[in-house]
Amino acid sequence: MTASAPLEPDVADERLILLLVGAVGAGKGTQASILSRELGIPHLASGNLFRAAMAAGTPLGEEARGYMERGELVPDETTIGMFMEELARPGAARGAILDGFPRTVGQSTALDETLAAQGERIRRVISIEVPTEELVRRVAGRWVCPQCGTPYHAITDPPRTAGVCNKDGAQLRQRDDDRPEVVRARLERQVPPMLQVVDHYEGSGIVDHLDGTQPIDAVTASILSRVGARIRS
Ligand code: AMP
Repeated sequence: MTASAPLEPDVADERLILLLVGAVGAGKGTQASILSRELGIPHLASGNLFRAAMAAGTPLGEEARGYMERGELVPDETTIGMFMEELARPGAARGAILDGFPRTVGQSTALDETLAAQGERIRRVISIEVPTEELVRRVAGRWVCPQCGTPYHAITDPPRTAGVCNKDGAQLRQRDDDRPEVVRARLERQVPPMLQVVDHYEGSGIVDHLDGTQPIDAVTASILSRVGARIRS
């Protein structure tokens, strides 16, 4: 784990725009919701924002639909536009946690330029790092009840009887894309561009590499110590 320099006093008043980076299974979603609560800033997850726009039938949602259905990236201009709109909301006045965007170096550069035009920048990039085989173990251990939706984990949160829901006795299922071979393929696609984004910010001295194999609260504590408790005051 490498700690980067604490925030300099002259940036303490800037809005806290954090970028959270981590592969599937790294615990990014878990940390994002804890941080959002602890820091009082919204968690802006690109996939969720697009899905919500689609469900609401907004023009943005309609534009994103085709790309999402084909599993392609939504064009940069649209994606940046959506994030800048989210960042302009009163809820994001003190900052936001960006998740899933930027996910390419092109998007990072475009976002940096857009933020710079309004005198802002990404303050910290938090990279939650977990070895591939541990990610596969974590994700491939997920099981869910098809009737009531209760999630289980074969190792960390098993049902009382193997393969059976504690609540309604239904046979648990594994999502197709949580099967080990599919998880490995997802990681092979996902990780290289993610590392390139982290690399893009490395030179600015704002990247924190965190060991995501630590317990959840230890990861949270590391992140909070990096971003500085002053944001809460
Ligand atoms: P996710 O839930 O993060 O897997 O995202 C679901 C879909 O949303 C992706 O397959 C893309 O179509 C779209 N999407 C999410 N993030 C981005 C992004 N940063 N740039 C472009 N499209 C994105």
